Amino acid sequence: MSTDAKVFTCPHHPAGLAAPQADECQECGSRVNLRMCASCGHVGCCESQAGHARAHALGGRHPIIYSVPVGRGFAWCYEEDRYL
Ligand SMILES: [Zn+2]
Ligand SMILES: [Zn+2]
Ligand SMILES: [Zn+2]
Repeated sequence: MSTDAKVFTCPHHPAGLAAPQADECQECGSRVNLRMCASCGHVGCCESQAGHARAHALGGRHPIIYSVPVGRGFAWCYEEDRYL
């Protein structure tokens, strides 16, 4: 992961940004439109696929996801349901 990745902030964002655990969805193996958990680096697919990133965010108290590649897209907070 590049060290100059843009880090977003909101009240739910962890102190540090995790590094990705995988380069594909850890549940279904998708390699497109991936999202990474800011808290632990879990990688999951987006909501137009099986929604594994969302399932992780809602199930594990890790509400912030980054689009992959991290730092070149957006971040979303599921606590607030908004883009950061
Ligand atoms: Zn938030
Ligand atoms: Zn998936
Ligand atoms: Zn997580």
